[in-house]
Amino acid sequence: MNRGAAVKNFEADSGRCADGGAVHRAYISIGSNIGDRAANCERAILALDSASGVRVAARSRLFLSEPVGYADQRWFVNAVVKVETTFSPFALLGVLQGLERDAGRKRSGIRFGPRTLDLDIVIFDDMIIDSDGLEIPHPRMHERRFVLGPLCDIDPRVVHPVLKKTARQLYDALSEDEQKILVREQ
Ligand code: AMP
Repeated sequence: MNRGAAVKNFEADSGRCADGGAVHRAYISIGSNIGDRAANCERAILALDSASGVRVAARSRLFLSEPVGYADQRWFVNAVVKVETTFSPFALLGVLQGLERDAGRKRSGIRFGPRTLDLDIVIFDDMIIDSDGLEIPHPRMHERRFVLGPLCDIDPRVVHPVLKKTARQLYDALSEDEQKILVREQ
């Protein structure tokens, strides 16, 4: 994917974008397949909404999804939330990593392996970032039904800033056979 030029206009110290504290719109994908998966996702949504500088503006239903990449593990519970934040993408990533740690996440060492809580920034305004620790839009979001399904639940018309396609168009382009997702009983 041609990701274009990185956006670099951030204030490293304050965690804010260099834009006078404007409010940004971001979509965050949430996943869990260890312990009480639904409770882990619900707790993460509450914790995000309670974090200073972040407000949850919309949330998807919970979905159940077949593991992708590493099949020998439990199905995941997934959701996507839309947040409003005054943080830069890097500071928001710091908040998400703190929540993953609080949830007791331990890395199995297996890429795409089991996790108590996984929080990814999927889209942040229409920014394109390609740095070592952060890629936005998330580099695999357009291949993942477990991201696009919940995203369509809250905002099917949001546009991928590189591919210039809506979440609904990207979702419809993926085959159901390879990645099953179901709406979980709420
Ligand atoms: P994971 O093991 O899937 O949780 O990957 C976490 C790593 O991905 C972290 O070290 C992040 O720095 C990196 N990363 C890169 N882009 C993103 C993104 N858009 N959202 C969350 N983590 C990201």
